[in-house]
Amino acid sequence: MVAAPVINITKVETSKLTRTSLENLPFGRFFTDHMLEADYENGEWKNVEIKPYQPLLLEPSTAALHYGQAIFEGIKAYKYEDGTAAIFRPMDNYKRFNISAERMQMPAVPEEIFMEGMRMLIELDKNWIPSLPEHSLYIRPFMFSTDAVIGVKPSESYKFIILLSPTGPYYAAPMKIYVEEKYTRAAPGGVGFSKNAGNYGASMLATSIAKKAGYDQVLWTDAFEHKYLQEVGTMNVFFIIGNKAITPSLEDGTILAGVTRDSAIVILREMGLEVIEQKFSIDELIEAHVAGQLREVFGTGTAATISMIKELRYKEYDMLFDTDSWKVAPELKKRLNAIRDGQARDTHGWMMAI
Ligand SMILES: *Cc1c(COP(=O)(O)O)cnc(C)c1O
Repeated sequence: MVAAPVINITKVETSKLTRTSLENLPFGRFFTDHMLEADYENGEWKNVEIKPYQPLLLEPSTAALHYGQAIFEGIKAYKYEDGTAAIFRPMDNYKRFNISAERMQMPAVPEEIFMEGMRMLIELDKNWIPSLPEHSLYIRPFMFSTDAVIGVKPSESYKFIILLSPTGPYYAAPMKIYVEEKYTRAAPGGVGFSKNAGNYGASMLATSIAKKAGYDQVLWTDAFEHKYLQEVGTMNVFFIIGNKAITPSLEDGTILAGVTRDSAIVILREMGLEVIEQKFSIDELIEAHVAGQLREVFGTGTAATISMIKELRYKEYDMLFDTDSWKVAPELKKRLNAIRDGQARDTHGWMMAI
């Protein structure tokens, strides 16, 4: 048995909180007083520290900056009226983090550092969790290679960090989406299922082009035929067709297995819908639309929870939706938020108390 690493704590002298209002903060722009940092060297994790949020000092040759061994997670914590707080499904993010690490040839982060470190960090910065409705504390664990060597190979040293960012309601206006047929996000055998930094850099050109054309995001299609639907921007996608909810299946490794996706599947079933995970093509989607059966299209992810899609464009074919009349997406969002805000009973054991 390897002894659990000691997590040392160095506290700030004065909290920044007195200068920061926690109301309506924009996403990802403000950080709490402390961060967790740990180093991987000579085959072990060491220097596990919770310390004041501060810049990093890195060699310009730092491997991650050149060859992209960099992964991350996104998790949210909530504060309740009685002052207690809880994190939404963090074990699922922890497991996914190490799946991403394996794919990128990075070391696994031990549970004591990821989970216990996160819990201790949040405990210390608990006053930073906004308690206003739909506000939360966004948790950003990430890891990157730190060898100061220019050479394409897995690094021998890594840094693992957790940042905390208080955030206001993510106003998810209904989106206009363009079905992407040139650029791709993920191919079988690739890295689509891992939350690695390069996936996002690679997606930005298609997104910029879509934005210039007046759309908010793209709906990614498969790399071979540009026919099978994958994800919408950086969210998983659901189609409500008749009384069925269809979402792309995970087996090709081209879809990021969202925790919100998994939660949506459970809740949609509780709402009485039949949920089907399958390969699903743009032709089948259009067929459902032509038949008047395509009721709703929405994305799911930690940041925005549920994002409704009001327009979906494929070549010359435009699908327009009156999102105000939708029943499924708003109800799903309401149920999911009620569990996270502590207003509904957590019957699935999704909330981890801090
Ligand atoms: C993070 C992410 C999602 C959503 O995952 P959640 O666990 O629900 O936040 C979906 N797709 C991509 C590409 C992502 O990076």
